[in-house]
Amino acid sequence: MKILVINCGSSSLKYQIFDMDDESVLVQGLVERIGIEGSRLTQKHGDDKYVVEEEIPNHDHAVKMVFDAIQDKEHGVIESIDEIQAIGHRVLHGGDKLSESTIIDQKVKDVIREFIKFGPLHNPANLMGIEACEKAAPGKKNIAVFDTAFHQTMPPEIYMYGIPYKFYEKYRLRKYGFHGTSHRYLTLRTAEIMEKKPEDLNIITVHLGNGSSLSGVKEGKCLVTSMGLTPLEGLIMGTRSGDLDPSAMTFLMNEEGYTADEMNELLNKESGVLGISGISSDFRDLEEAAKKGNERAQLALDMFNYRCKRFLGSYMITLGHVDCITFAGGLGENSPETRATLLENLEEYGIKIDPEKNNCRGKEQIISTDDSRITVMVVPTNEELMIARDTMELI
Ligand code: AMP
Repeated sequence: MKILVINCGSSSLKYQIFDMDDESVLVQGLVERIGIEGSRLTQKHGDDKYVVEEEIPNHDHAVKMVFDAIQDKEHGVIESIDEIQAIGHRVLHGGDKLSESTIIDQKVKDVIREFIKFGPLHNPANLMGIEACEKAAPGKKNIAVFDTAFHQTMPPEIYMYGIPYKFYEKYRLRKYGFHGTSHRYLTLRTAEIMEKKPEDLNIITVHLGNGSSLSGVKEGKCLVTSMGLTPLEGLIMGTRSGDLDPSAMTFLMNEEGYTADEMNELLNKESGVLGISGISSDFRDLEEAAKKGNERAQLALDMFNYRCKRFLGSYMITLGHVDCITFAGGLGENSPETRATLLENLEEYGIKIDPEKNNCRGKEQIISTDDSRITVMVVPTNEELMIARDTMELI
């Protein structure tokens, strides 16, 4: 069975085809700069690289190009679109209406549309991708896999904000959490590695990349996560501020005359380690600059690490007992320095890292010592595979 997985952004579309017999990736590709000058499709499988440069005015056109590329006589991997059994879509926000992956019908599209209010950049793009696929392959089943779904098991005392209750009633304003497909994959894979059932484990899943979040997973279900109403809450990220005193925002709006939209832009795109360092949102650049003595790069890294520790400590207490801590994401998978800094001197709390084992990048590896009470590991996340699995299960 072959499944196409689509992750549609406002100006980009990533895709992969999985052969679910062995969960292998047959092909992957990216359409960039949709609606912008210089647009192109790049597709890869094995050593084959296929690039198509042409004007791509909208998502309908992008999806048509993907369908052509995967069926291309020279560079494609299928002969007919009939070989694709279904299409799985990554969708950002399902609010509190959709707590599981689901076959897309009008009602599901209405929910995605309703929660554009909390995902103004992603939900419209996700919908465009879905509708473009419906047009390009009529009758083919489309499945939505929500970034928010895994976190729907959080209890109200964790997901409610300390503001008047009427705003929850009126707008469903609350914490939702994101990266859910990644946190779910990490939970399942950690349990497999531990040779246990997810319900027999308490795990802290730590997804550190350009966007970063932690989840406290109790007996296989999400109890708490660091992102909130939107992916802005929680950790300091590449360009996002994470938590801050809300008064800092109203102060800046008053003093600088920022509108709400400008404030949103500042907190999402100009803050985080980029805003602090003034150098880059990429941790590789910051580590390099810090090594050369750049104090603000070092400050950005120290702030990022402190915030991670604060959440780790908080989740250890919230969960009460922790069996495993699992690192993923571009930074979590590839930076032994970050992992070592976050978990140094925690023997008292049952965490002992083996420096040799920790010296690994981008592969599955237990990095704690054999006598560490908590097992710490690195697991490269695989959200696309999770989407493909859900899609297969639903059809
Ligand atoms: P992601 O958003 O998960 O793709 O992660 C992207 C981020 O991971 C990049 O912005 C880098 O900051 C970070 N990253 C990737 N590779 C490394 C590495 N070898 N060392 C440090 N950071 C890395």
